[in-house]
Parts: sequence; C-alpha cells; structure tokens
Amino acid sequence: MKSVDVAVIGGGILGCFAARNLMRWNLSVVLIEKELDICTGITRANSAIVYAGYDNKTGSRKAELTVRGNASFDDLCRELEVPFSRCGSLLVTYDKESLAQLRRKWEQGIRNGVPGLELLTGGEAEAMEPMLAPGVAGALYAPTTGTVNPWQLGIAAFENAAANEMEPMLGTTVVGIRKTKFGYLVETDRSELRCRAVINCAGLSADRIQELCFPSDTHLLIDGAEYLVLDKQARKPKRVIFQQAQSCGKGITAIPCVEGNLLLSGVRKPVGEPFATTKEGISELKTSAVSLFPNLNMQQVIRSFAAARPNPQWDDGESIHDFSIAYPAPGFFSLIGIKTPGLTCANELGRYLAEKTAAFLDAHPNPRFTPHRQAIAKTNDPEIICLCEGISRGEILEAIRRGASTVDGVKRRVGSGMGVCQGSRCSFAIEQILREVWHGAL
Ligand SMILES: Cc1cc2nc3c(=O)[nH]c(=O)nc-3n(C[C@H](O)[C@H](O)[C@H](O)COP(=O)(O)OP(=O)(O)OC[C@H]3O[C@@H](n4cnc5c(N)ncnc54)[C@H](O)[C@@H]3O)c2cc1C
Repeated sequence: MKSVDVAVIGGGILGCFAARNLMRWNLSVVLIEKELDICTGITRANSAIVYAGYDNKTGSRKAELTVRGNASFDDLCRELEVPFSRCGSLLVTYDKESLAQLRRKWEQGIRNGVPGLELLTGGEAEAMEPMLAPGVAGALYAPTTGTVNPWQLGIAAFENAAANEMEPMLGTTVVGIRKTKFGYLVETDRSELRCRAVINCAGLSADRIQELCFPSDTHLLIDGAEYLVLDKQARKPKRVIFQQAQSCGKGITAIPCVEGNLLLSGVRKPVGEPFATTKEGISELKTSAVSLFPNLNMQQVIRSFAAARPNPQWDDGESIHDFSIAYPAPGFFSLIGIKTPGLTCANELGRYLAEKTAAFLDAHPNPRFTPHRQAIAKTNDPEIICLCEGISRGEILEAIRRGASTVDGVKRRVGSGMGVCQGSRCSFAIEQILREVWHGAL
C-alpha cells in the first residue's frame, strides 16, 4: 500500500495551492481529484475578482487574508506566469439612502488596511466610468481590486506543485477515511493510501468528506449564480463595477476580464440545480445590465453559464460568515464552504494550511522548491486551430502534454474556444488532435 506524508483531497484552486505550498516543505504529497482534470468545480465558474478587502468584517480571517492575498497578487502571478490586471473597482449606488453604507464600507476598509480607498461623488464616478447610467449618487473607489483567470491560476499552481514532485491522482474518488495509529487510511475507488495528514479541499463535498471520518458541525447549503460573457469587441468599463444592492433590487457586478471579455454576474438562484442557467435569471441579468450600462450591446453576449456556491452553516442553520477551517483531529484539516473571496485568498489559505501541517509533521523547509512556473508560450506553428483566439496546433499539443484530456481542458489551458464562435469551429479539430495523441499517432 502506498504511504505518503499528506493527502490533499480536491483539485480545485484551494487544493492546488495547498499542494503547492506543501511542496515548500520536505514532505511527500498526493493530490486526489475525482475528475480527470483539475479546476472543474467551483473554480471553473466564478467572478474572477481579486478583492480589495473592504467588504469583510474587521478582525475576521477573511479580512486579513484578503488584504494580504491581494497585496501579493502581482508577485504570485509573476512567479506562476499568469495574467493579472489590477484594474481597480467602483462600488456605485444610485440611491442616496445607500451612501451611509458606502461610508461604512470605506471605514471598514481603512480599518482592514486596504490601500487607496476613496469615496467619490456621483459626478466623479461617472467621469471615471462614462458607460455608467447617469444619476450615480456616490461610489467607493478601490484601486487595488483586480481580475485574474481562476482556472489558469489554479492550473499554474498545480503544475508548479507537480514540478516540485507533488504526485497527482486524478480520476480518483475518495470514498472512505479511517483514523489509524500511524495517521489516516484514505480509501479511494482505486486503492488505499496511508498518510500522516489529510487536507480536505473538496469544495461542494467538503462537509461530506469530513463526515467520512469525523462529525462535522458545518454543513453546506448550495445555491448558485448566473453569468453572461460578452465578446471582446464589446464596450466595457475599465474597472470592476459593483452595483450596490438597493431598495429597488439586487445589484449586479461587471468584470472586465484579463482576456478582454466583459463578464456580468448578479442573480442569486435558490437551491436547485446550481450549474444550470435559467431563462428568468438570464433575462433579469440582461435587464439589470442595460439599466446600469445603457449603451451595452446585449447582441454581443457570447455565452451564459451558472455557478455553484457552497454556503456554510452551523448545525442549527445559522450562516457562517468567516472562512471556516475545521481541525476535527490532529493532522486533519478541512476547508468547508470557502466561497468569495476564496480565489483572492487561495495562496494565503494554502500557505496557512501547509505551515500548520508542516508544524504538525515536524517538517523542514524543502531547499529544492522552485516557485517559478512557465506559461504555455505562443508558438510559431503556422497551423492555427482556434481561429478566433489564434491558438496553434503546437499550443494545443503542449496543453495536452501538460494534462488536458478534453476539449474543455485544452480551452482552460490555452484559451481555445473562448472567442466569438465559442468553439463551434475548433472543437472538432481539437477532439481529433486529442484522439491522435491517445492513439499514439502524435
Ligand atoms: C459564484 C461564485 C463566485 C465567486 N467569485 C469569486 C471572486 O470573484 N473572487 C474570489 O476571490 N472568490 C470568488 N469565489 C470563491 C472561489 O471561487 C472559491 O472559494 C474557490 O473556487 C473554491 O475552490 P475549491 O478548491 O474549494 O473548490 P472546487 O473548485 O470545487 O474544488 C473542489 C474539488 O474537489 C473535488 N472532489 C470533491 N469530492 C471529491 C472526492 N470524494 N474525491 C476526490 N475529489 C473530490 C471536486 O471534483 C473539485 O474538483 C466565488 C465563488 C462562487 C461560488
């Protein structure tokens, strides 16, 4: 039976960063993911915002990690060669009654140590973002807000962890965990594994994974959000725009993504099928978007999608607002219900868990750890497969070499299929290349 120091369960962004940070220590680590590829769960569908940190209660773990995580994003993305845009954000309100709330957020942000926050008049906000509908009552400007592609960041952390000798176990589902005298016995649908510590980052299933071995007083209530993606040619704000929720309805968020598309999000769906969009939700989102940006051309929507949100609650149904990290027994760590701003804090949470685990296992720093990872470079291969995004056959082959096993996996590594035709012209050709690689023709 295989024995390792640490088993990380879940290959979303949190598991990938936990694994990467564990490799800074002289520990043997496996990452167990039930899907054939990583970052296909919550990490696949979210708002891609690197939050500034004014939204979280002063003194909370969220506030501390968000401000620290945000400040380290430039260095992190440089190390992992992932595009990051520190575009700033405006929280806008059209409702004079909400101005006091904006001021409270500003004060909270100052207490949290968020740099550069400014309260703006409506006129100042409209001058900064001329696409906004007239009548802004006031805004909170946060220059440190940014955007990053969540799955690119997770994949980069995973690749870096693997380059530092983390062992991935993909397509492997954890079905049981037992406490033993040497640590834990992790049972999967393929084999059993001994480990000295477990880090549970199983996203939507994290409460159930903990319950395989220990009771959990935290449970997840799943709801969802819906999104629209506009073509790169669409007019877009320069900054992330958060519309403050007000008496006449919930606000929406507009995100100018690092790839150049505009992402719109806003409608919270009740518990149901969180990964499915609804006709009503999408139509409400479109209506809200046009009332916030009257010149937005909704004909330029190229895609809609839905996301699942794990909302942590105590046994009695009371919501948990801070990040919930459980230690049910020595050497067992669970991240249960890490929703927004989990992307912003992924590296900080991973570092925290790795340090706790290293202390528990009495590990020493790994002198061979290399933090740098190389992105897939543009090749000069003249054979362009994705015409919209200009992705060559060479880049697709490199994505497959790095672990992409589906058209979606290739897309998440090189951006094929993300253009205006949404893969209708290249998906078949990419499938063909995947088949050729599997059959050994390439
Ligand atoms: C709608 C929405 C918008 C968000 N927007 C933002 C944002 O703009 N900025 C921000 O900072 N944060 C944001 N977040 C938060 C952030 O996206 C999450 O905190 C983060 O993606 C969670 O990652 P994860 O690794 O916990 O989960 P996941 O990505 O779901 O990964 C968990 C993995 O565990 C695997 N798994 C489950 N069960 C098993 C098993 N039995 N065996 C093996 N593997 C298993 C799953 O297959 C999955 O791959 C948002 C979240 C949501 C829901």
